Amino acid sequence: MTYVVADNCIKCKYMDCVEVCPVDCFYEGENTLVIHPDECIDCGVCEPECPAEAILPDTDPEAEKWLEMNTKYAEIWPNITEQGQPPADADEFNGVTGKYEKFFSPNPGGQEAEKKVG
Ligand code: SF4
Ligand code: SF4
Repeated sequence: MTYVVADNCIKCKYMDCVEVCPVDCFYEGENTLVIHPDECIDCGVCEPECPAEAILPDTDPEAEKWLEMNTKYAEIWPNITEQGQPPADADEFNGVTGKYEKFFSPNPGGQEAEKKVG
């Protein structure tokens, strides 16, 4: 079992979750995070910390479609252990539906991405 990051993290990316995870199993994309399903110890402390309510246990019927995406990108994106600066317009996108189809970026986030941009 694991927890997964779902659609509503996209473009919100508040990152409260990374501060509380005891095993540092969050990975950072350009505009969302994912959880590494093999590293998550299923403690559940991140779920209530997410202001976007974007973290689900994989027992949730909604979680299945996100498990594949979390598994795939946790292998590719860099690990994140400290809360960074959320996007300036994060609150405007909190609760918007269909964000994966409209906005998901497969690019990695974090310092490596900033280095490439800069
Ligand atoms: S707290 Fe929620 S919205 Fe913020 S990065 Fe974590 S999963 Fe995404
Ligand atoms: S459930 Fe626990 S181990 Fe899994 S991502 Fe959340 S805080 Fe980390």
